[in-house]
Amino acid sequence: VLYSVDEGIHRSPLQPVTFPTEPCLSLITFLFRNIASYPDRLAIADADSGESLTFAQLFSAIRSTSAGLSRLGIQKGTVVLICAPNSIHFAVSFFAIIAAGAVATTVNPLYTASELSKQAIDSGSKVVITVTSLWDKVKFLRLPTVFIGPKAAPSVAADSKVPILYLSDLMSVPEAEYSPPVVHQSDICTLLYSSGTTGTSKGVMLSHRNFICTSLMATHDQDLRRHPQNICLCVLPMFHVFGLSVITYAQLQRGNSLVVMGRFEMDLVLRSIEKYRVTYFFVVPPIMITLAKQGRVVRYDLSSLKYLASGAAPLGKDLMEEVAKNYPEKMVLQGYGLTEACGFISIEYPEKSVGKFGSVGFLAVGIDGKVLNVDTQEPLPPNQLGELCFRGPNIMQGYFNNPQATELTLDKEGWLHTGDLGYFDENGQIFVVDRIKELIKYKGLQVAPAELEGLLLSHPDIVDAVVIPFPDDEAGEIPIGYVVRSPNSSITEDEVLKFIANQVAPYKKLRRVTFVNSVPKSPSGKILRRELIQKAKSNL
Ligand code: AMP
Repeated sequence: VLYSVDEGIHRSPLQPVTFPTEPCLSLITFLFRNIASYPDRLAIADADSGESLTFAQLFSAIRSTSAGLSRLGIQKGTVVLICAPNSIHFAVSFFAIIAAGAVATTVNPLYTASELSKQAIDSGSKVVITVTSLWDKVKFLRLPTVFIGPKAAPSVAADSKVPILYLSDLMSVPEAEYSPPVVHQSDICTLLYSSGTTGTSKGVMLSHRNFICTSLMATHDQDLRRHPQNICLCVLPMFHVFGLSVITYAQLQRGNSLVVMGRFEMDLVLRSIEKYRVTYFFVVPPIMITLAKQGRVVRYDLSSLKYLASGAAPLGKDLMEEVAKNYPEKMVLQGYGLTEACGFISIEYPEKSVGKFGSVGFLAVGIDGKVLNVDTQEPLPPNQLGELCFRGPNIMQGYFNNPQATELTLDKEGWLHTGDLGYFDENGQIFVVDRIKELIKYKGLQVAPAELEGLLLSHPDIVDAVVIPFPDDEAGEIPIGYVVRSPNSSITEDEVLKFIANQVAPYKKLRRVTFVNSVPKSPSGKILRRELIQKAKSNL
């Protein structure tokens, strides 16, 4: 089957796969459907602690923990918040929540207490799973708390007005107590937060089916289905859709092994590649930058590594070429996805790639694409730039409690309007060129301008403000602000920067503020962001 365009609809060039059709199917059942053929294979290893679980042990840990969560009253539809760095226990917790028929929502552990609280309230979280080192922030949620890892210091328990439990206790609940809930593929299993094309963060409702289909799409490549299994390094955060769906869930359901890391440290990464004979390394552009700067690493044996696959933010052509030059025997690939598409839209396939660095590859199997003229909304032919839109079984069910935002993003025919500007070339390779949505991506992490603008406007000395992305070599983009001071105010740039920094996770900090007399707006009052972005870039 070859790439085709039919009435403006681009179809995946890959051999179709059959997605499961039974209405009652949980992503957990699907995850372990073939486990009888590899019960003793390594499922997941923790590079930090050296702990590991086989597939049979993972299966059993999930069922016990899920039974333990049910004892706490967690049932179908209950929302549970995970605030923790990557670990085996993050994965066990995530799957145990879903095995109970409940819904998982994840946050960046760098969030401030108020950012955490906002998401906990918006998602209706009833329980939180975390680590003791984050207790100082998590305690303000006043939710029953399950601690991953060692039993907490006595001060935590004394401090707490809510029930405190330990994952280790839940994991030792008899597995026989687990009784699987009836789950439809269409049931929601996660609320991952994304600002989408406009406004602040919203809960992206993803279903069991979204995860199941995405996992088949993301592992369609022959090599990811070859046995003996691949070993995938997961240093990208599991709280983000890339780490959770494309790496953790997709790879485990294929019987591939995961090596997880709670923090990015290049030396531990390289050591772990050598130790676990890692074959697949998923990265974000800043890791590629580090790899490019290092030249070819010879102090560790990286011979097992076959693929370096980058996603979550644009990866420059030059950077890819540089890394590929250092590692000519390895495939350096780029993929593209978004939370609203369960993390996956396209990737370069080694057997199809025509070596055009800079492309984000071909449409994944089962996904259709369309490029719309931004002004007329008419579909465009190959090689013409417009808004990228996609349709397929990986596309979200909508934004939680936000029909208005859903309507803006998902049209009546089920097309997801991404807010990304790009095109398909004549071979079906996709190029993402720019973003028309407000979103800023700092090292692959989302920063929503609307959130920072809201904070700026809450300052008594600020009457108007706009936040835009500014190119940055290390981070990809940094948030910068244009601020209108109130008439008699003499507030300084430093004061504004501090005011924001005190209220947001470090990666969301404003990096620069310029005072202006007014913010450019259209006659209808819409901020003319593009104008400002162009102006800022031209001063580079
Ligand atoms: P998130 O929902 O956090 O995964 O963010 C999704 C957004 O990240 C997309 O809509 C794009 O704007 C951007 N993005 C992800 N992957 C790429 C890529 N390979 N090239 C350019 N932009 C990307």
